[in-house]
Amino acid sequence: MIKGECKMNIEYVPTICPYCGCGCGVYLVVKDGKIVGVEPWKEHPVNEGKNCPKGRNAYKFLYSEKRLKKPLVKENGSFKEASWEKSLSLIAEKLKNIDPDSFGFINSGKLTNEDLYVIQKFTRCVMKTNNIDNCSRFCHSTTVPALISTVGSGVMSTSQINIEKADCIFIAGTNIKETYPMIALRVMRAKKKVAKVIVTDPRRTVTVRLLADIHLQLNPGTDVVLINAMMKTVLDNGLEDKDFIERRTKGFNELRNYLSSLNMNDAERITGVSSDLIKEAARTYAKAENACILYNAGIAQHAVGIGNIQALSDLAMLTGNYGRPGTGVNPLRGHINGEGFGDMGPIPVFYPGFRRVSEKSAKLFENYWGVEGLPSNPGMTYMDMIEKCDVLYIAGANPMVSAPDTNQVRKMLESKDLLVIQDIFLTETTELADIILPAATWVEKDGTITQVDRRVQRIKKAVDPPGEAKPDWKIIRELSGMMGFREKFKFNSSKEIFEEIRKYVPQYSGITYDRLKKAGGIQWPCPSEDHPGTDTMFVESFGTPEGLGAFQVVEHKNPVEMIDEEYPYVFTNGRLIFHYHSGTMTRKTERLNNEVRGGFVEINIDDARKKGIRDGEEIILKSRRGEIRVIAKLTDNIRKGVLFMPWHFSESSPNVLTGPSAGPPSKMPEFKFCAVKIEIKR
Ligand code: SF4
Repeated sequence: MIKGECKMNIEYVPTICPYCGCGCGVYLVVKDGKIVGVEPWKEHPVNEGKNCPKGRNAYKFLYSEKRLKKPLVKENGSFKEASWEKSLSLIAEKLKNIDPDSFGFINSGKLTNEDLYVIQKFTRCVMKTNNIDNCSRFCHSTTVPALISTVGSGVMSTSQINIEKADCIFIAGTNIKETYPMIALRVMRAKKKVAKVIVTDPRRTVTVRLLADIHLQLNPGTDVVLINAMMKTVLDNGLEDKDFIERRTKGFNELRNYLSSLNMNDAERITGVSSDLIKEAARTYAKAENACILYNAGIAQHAVGIGNIQALSDLAMLTGNYGRPGTGVNPLRGHINGEGFGDMGPIPVFYPGFRRVSEKSAKLFENYWGVEGLPSNPGMTYMDMIEKCDVLYIAGANPMVSAPDTNQVRKMLESKDLLVIQDIFLTETTELADIILPAATWVEKDGTITQVDRRVQRIKKAVDPPGEAKPDWKIIRELSGMMGFREKFKFNSSKEIFEEIRKYVPQYSGITYDRLKKAGGIQWPCPSEDHPGTDTMFVESFGTPEGLGAFQVVEHKNPVEMIDEEYPYVFTNGRLIFHYHSGTMTRKTERLNNEVRGGFVEINIDDARKKGIRDGEEIILKSRRGEIRVIAKLTDNIRKGVLFMPWHFSESSPNVLTGPSAGPPSKMPEFKFCAVKIEIKR
């Protein structure tokens, strides 16, 4: 079907699936101003006409009764419909009179680059603060400092399409068959050609069952021990890439000395994986021509996540696996705009284009934007803003489900002087708001998004938003105007915003809306309009100041909270193929919701028998922070002593149990390891 073709009142609008970071192309089928279907986009290079269940049902939540259609203002404890004029005036009056440090803005990877650019510009230009953060704090805040310290940039180094070129794929801490189905397809194709697949996971997931040649079923929280043991094996067998180490890295001797002090028996005891299997995995990875590491939350969502990722990057450099298609260390970011919500700068430590917050960057953007007094100190992170800011503005995020320690989050949000939420639905968090503003979804606005492999793609407006809902950037533009900044925000279209983005974000300089008509978009860096984009990073040199990769010595550290006699189980969590994040969209899609309607906890069959727990029985999980009731699912696919829950279901939310962060620099909460006990009440 031709893009935008119209037959018998039916139009096919090409756009991008709104869910995971793969960025599959889809055609929206529009009839009489309403979306009535989704068709595969066969020429799209990411998915070649295939979509997972979420993509095939990507539009159904749009017509839920629960869509927000008018601004709502809380009066005497209940929400009343209000005009835009009244709602935005109330917000503007409050914001004009507060100290910049008491304001914070939480945004989301569901928003477009244009939304995010305008939001960060508002926070810095109008509110004069860097208190701005998003849910990347909870997924890849460890990735950026870790990969910057080793290779100078926190991005995916290969293209997802080139994963097919690898002859060994090391999947660390991610169940890609459920979380990135199109990337799993690439791995399957590579495997059919020649590739060996190694998976680390405490569970025998569907990814392990379908893709793994070697499954390292490690104890949670022992990744560094496992990776160090693999590197020790590489060196003991003389499998390191001496030429690569010599030409392109520094710090090798320190790493070699440290690894020589390690003992494989200790590695076996701590990880729970036999040393023979660790050695087999190490030799398989090191002997490959092109070995590729894919990782996600199981590695990154730990208080020690930075060390986990540095160790993976060490392994890739040790074996010369950077700079060619199908190699590198590749963070799989979960959101539709998972890369863009770093690139645009809506985070406390970077101005747009990853310019670190400093006097110099503040001056640069004062010059660009024609304003004075831009903030030059790093702002507060997500949880610090929830705790400390008196006024909080949230766009597209649902911290009552996605932030750790839900009971504390509720108390802190309830104590705000003003809580403004801009979203498409009422959520668990909007209940606590003072003002709720209705936003447009991805099919109701134009814009761009940037996926997992730095792939910038266009999304197209296919239908009007319901009621009075508006694109996020328009809401912020109007609020900025009311606060005296109309001139600085006089954007009339998303294209005009993108033109400003490409002026000030060097990685996007050569990308235009016109060039993005091409299926599959353009991968940054793209420095000029005749540049094709970049599918492989670090070909000649790394992104560090001297261009060399820097080995890091990483020692094992225990998780923040260990199991003990009172709390003897390790609790961890993850995603399902049918749902997405806090379920705001997928649980309103009947077909997806019918597949899995509520939460459950996986428990090893032997553990369950010892406690007398039956399959399907409701049990109580308790941590030091809270308790939830949940249905037990008995399985032998999980290690003894480990419990797993999906985290899409607010009525049994894992984050009631999970704990706080380990502190700077990433402030990553200890999502993937917390100590719990089980109680049975019959
Ligand atoms: Fe959408 Fe991801 Fe599924 Fe593709 S793989 S259809 S982007 S959810």
